[in-house]
Amino acid sequence: MLIDLHTHSTASDGTDSPAELVRKAASCGLDVVALTDHDTTRGHAEAVAALTGLDRRLALVTGAELSCRLDGVSMHMLAYLFDPQEPELLAERELVRDDRTPRAHAIIEKLQGLGVPVTWEQVARIAGEGSVGRPHIAEALVEHGVVATVSDAFTQDWLADGGRAHVAKHETDPFEAIRLVKAAGGVTVFAHPRAAKRGLTVPDESIAKLAEAGLDGLEVDHMDHDEADRERLRGLAGDLGLLATGSSDYHGSRKTCVLGEHRTAPEVYEEIVRRATGARPAASRP
Ligand code: AMP
Ligand code: FE
Ligand code: FE
Ligand code: ZN
Repeated sequence: MLIDLHTHSTASDGTDSPAELVRKAASCGLDVVALTDHDTTRGHAEAVAALTGLDRRLALVTGAELSCRLDGVSMHMLAYLFDPQEPELLAERELVRDDRTPRAHAIIEKLQGLGVPVTWEQVARIAGEGSVGRPHIAEALVEHGVVATVSDAFTQDWLADGGRAHVAKHETDPFEAIRLVKAAGGVTVFAHPRAAKRGLTVPDESIAKLAEAGLDGLEVDHMDHDEADRERLRGLAGDLGLLATGSSDYHGSRKTCVLGEHRTAPEVYEEIVRRATGARPAASRP
């Protein structure tokens, strides 16, 4: 069983449409894929519909990656199989997603102040239908020849947390996120908790408090964790009674990772499904 529980589509900052993502997941041999766009469930319907055309069995876990902030540190919370209609969680997702637009305008203004001729029209074209994020703005910087790759824009010179052109967006308190997701029948996994190259990370003591508050798991196997990070996180998950997952965090061509690059054990996936009451995985027929 090949299980990848963290991917992005054009509904946020990935480059494959939800339908393309589902077809690629099937063709590269995955048995389970989760769609976890930033702060939105907009891609779910298209992804579920794409299951119909597949000639092999694939289960789709509907989810989202919620933008959170704890003690001034930005962090991401994966949420799986929650009821997408539950009003309180829906309102919070909309609050975060809607704040991305004025925030992108503010980042663009800072970049213009730094002499980069990036415009809202350019960024909006790159983002298309997706909720706008820094990777879209990073791509505009690539187009202007300011940096060579999207990843190169995530430095203190440009878009990294605290960088010259960084502007924070509204982000949810993770304790509130855990509460909201649970109330919507979902399961929470702290995404890439030790991804230090993205900025500051949350200390173990805070992870322990999140566990006490009902966090279900930690994403252990992830491209931004080295072997030492993984070993430490696996130990922490064991100590705190948390599930340990592994996933690609696939973004299409906007990141170097490939689908299924890291995977989750079948028994962990089954436990996530068992705990969830907000939605069931959708599956193709064959
Ligand atoms: P935002 O949600 O707009 O604050 O942008 C955060 C997104 O930027 C993350 O979800 C990643 O997709 C991307 N990102 C963060 N750090 C990096 C990095 N070092 N290289 C490439 N992409 C990154
Ligand atoms: Fe992203
Ligand atoms: Fe993330
Ligand atoms: Zn992600």
